[in-house]
Amino acid sequence: MFARRLQQLNPYKPGEQPKDREYIKLNANENPYEPSPKVAEALKNIPLKKLGLYPDPDSSLLRSVIADELNASRGVLVAAADQPELPFKITPDMIFCGNGSDEVLSFVFYAFFDSDKPLVLPEHTYSFYPVYAGYYGIQLKKVPLNADFSLDKQAMLDVDSTGMIFANPNAPTGIELSIEEIDGMLAKYPKDKVFVVDEAYTDFSGHTVLPLLQKYQNLLVIRTFSKSMSFAGMRLGYAIGNPELIKALTTTKNSFNHFPADAVCQAAGIAACSDIEYYARNCKKIMQTRDDFSAKLVAAGWQVVPSKTNFILAAKKGFSGNDVYQAIKKDGILVRYFDIDLIRDFVRITIGTPEQMAALLESMLKIK
Ligand code: PMP
Repeated sequence: MFARRLQQLNPYKPGEQPKDREYIKLNANENPYEPSPKVAEALKNIPLKKLGLYPDPDSSLLRSVIADELNASRGVLVAAADQPELPFKITPDMIFCGNGSDEVLSFVFYAFFDSDKPLVLPEHTYSFYPVYAGYYGIQLKKVPLNADFSLDKQAMLDVDSTGMIFANPNAPTGIELSIEEIDGMLAKYPKDKVFVVDEAYTDFSGHTVLPLLQKYQNLLVIRTFSKSMSFAGMRLGYAIGNPELIKALTTTKNSFNHFPADAVCQAAGIAACSDIEYYARNCKKIMQTRDDFSAKLVAAGWQVVPSKTNFILAAKKGFSGNDVYQAIKKDGILVRYFDIDLIRDFVRITIGTPEQMAALLESMLKIK
């Protein structure tokens, strides 16, 4: 009854959503602030008849609005002072939209990575990547992180690979490589292999590798509306790269589902892009809350990995990550614990509102 390939699947596990009580939910890197009121307005105004018709299969208006927004903002919502200007204009044909960046990533794995050589990635990075590799029968070469959790760039380049992928800043460590470091890697990487940088968390770091698209035709950048744009429930992600790569993703999409971004999603996404200042303000608040909360934990004797994202890894000597996770859950707060080497002693905490983080701090300081 079941295809043999089904037995090979090893599905990704998202953060839990227990229903037994109300929790402060800090376990899925969601944004604690609501989407812009302009999104509510757009949703109210969608003519019902639009839902009876197929949406624009290529999200044309949304793609051009995203391109405009990236051009206006140096490519990142709260650009750091040292983030260079984009040395070129991003055009809509450089953008591909999908049903969450998870789906965009799935198309990327299908379109660019062959099975004759391994795909190279850090041993610890977004845990969905190995799931896609299993799904498409792509071999993997996982390169261990350095002791300080940074990427071992040379070891990754030393692999004879079909492509390269990592998140920057990386998940679940929160650590980022600089644009110069990624430039150095791209300079040494074969030009006929796709080099993917997943910038899901870039709006919380202030840095993006988008300026490098001018130099490297094989660079593909993945973005999501789920984190900085408060859209995890809406499902909208995109890729940015040279038009040839975007065409390959469109061919892949049209061989699977013509309409990954539905009419509601496209209208809401366009409205979200019209209120960028609102999201930039929220990102700044989250970055500030992250830094304040991290400093308080460190002052209380916790180990915190310095993060450039909307989450942190934290550990307390003498306690496993699971101990900490369980203790916090008893207080009605959910964080995430990964039972994997290297980070088994840590919990991953999504940054919420200052009020949520105050409640969490109180709970964590009881762990002695
Ligand atoms: N990339 C990374 C690094 C992530 O952490 C996530 C969130 N789980 C995603 C992509 C997927 O985000 P989404 O599908 O919500 O756009």
